[in-house]
Amino acid sequence: MEDVIILGTGCAGFTAGIYTARANLRPLILEGKQPGGQLTTTSEVENFPGFPEGIDGFMLMDHLRKQALKFGARVENAYIDRVELGDSVKTLFAGERAFESKTVIIATGAAPRLLGIPGEKEMFGGKGVTTCATCDGAFYRDMDVVVVGGGDSACEEALFLTRFCSKVTLVHRRDELRASKIMAERTLAHEKITPLWNSAVQEVLPDDEGKARAISVENLLSGEKSEIPCKGIFIAIGHVPNTSAFEGLIPLDENGYFLPEPGSMVKTAVPGVFVAGDCADHVYRQAITAAGMGCQSAIEAERWLAENK
Ligand code: NAP
Repeated sequence: MEDVIILGTGCAGFTAGIYTARANLRPLILEGKQPGGQLTTTSEVENFPGFPEGIDGFMLMDHLRKQALKFGARVENAYIDRVELGDSVKTLFAGERAFESKTVIIATGAAPRLLGIPGEKEMFGGKGVTTCATCDGAFYRDMDVVVVGGGDSACEEALFLTRFCSKVTLVHRRDELRASKIMAERTLAHEKITPLWNSAVQEVLPDDEGKARAISVENLLSGEKSEIPCKGIFIAIGHVPNTSAFEGLIPLDENGYFLPEPGSMVKTAVPGVFVAGDCADHVYRQAITAAGMGCQSAIEAERWLAENK
């Protein structure tokens, strides 16, 4: 049986890995569907302390991985879909495989939210609808694209896309961006980016080959409908936490985020089970705060093991 299993290889998971490995607990880190977590889909990370020139998101995660491995953490690929959380033994199932551990640190992150409109699912992936400009932006060279959302992610996606695309329309449901001031100013000042305020995307419209050719949009103030021709639709409207495997076992809030015990950010109601990062934080959701929670959860796991020998 393992002392510590960590679920997730984002900032929270790897930081928990570094701390528990340095505590000689030889953590087993299980990597799910998105190795490296959300930062691997980000271009430049400018606000992680210690990198005055910024750092590529993928590279930052590679550094964290190497740092955890260097101290004895092990990484395996396994997507956990079912768990049994006993007081002394926690069993995690990935299909037919089972892993047993005394403590578990859940750092499963969050996945991009979708609009739930007609055409979105049908054209998701290679047919025009995507949630990752870093991954897919280059496919839309010299084309007109749309970004949906008004937060930092939407601004970041829009700015990144200006490197390739001829025109970026930023469709937002209000008339003011939610993004941080610096990102909002940079976005609105860019000559290739045009905001479309108070607007909701109604449908993604296909061409003869089933690929996106346009979106239909409704102006939420006037009710007027229009079509915007575009080959790429980048959806950046926030995230949903990856917590479904724990429903009914660990308290969740109404949006599905883990609800830690009062007085702690990382302890759950289940003894020996800790949470860290975006699966448990709908307020800050930063790489550095996820890393901080990873550190806290590692220290709590270490203490729990010492007290429950
Ligand atoms: P977010 O801040 O929650 O913004 C989501 C945006 O999507 C909001 O503008 C929201 O509109 C809009 N939205 C939500 N549901 C929608 C729907 N069904 N239809 C249309 N629009 C919808 O999410 P985020 O931009 O992904 O950022 C998450 C966190 O990560 C934030 O704390 C952010 O600061 C951080 N982040 C930081 C950076 C950076 O610093 N480089 C980069 C990316 C993200 P309303 O504004 O009307 O609610």
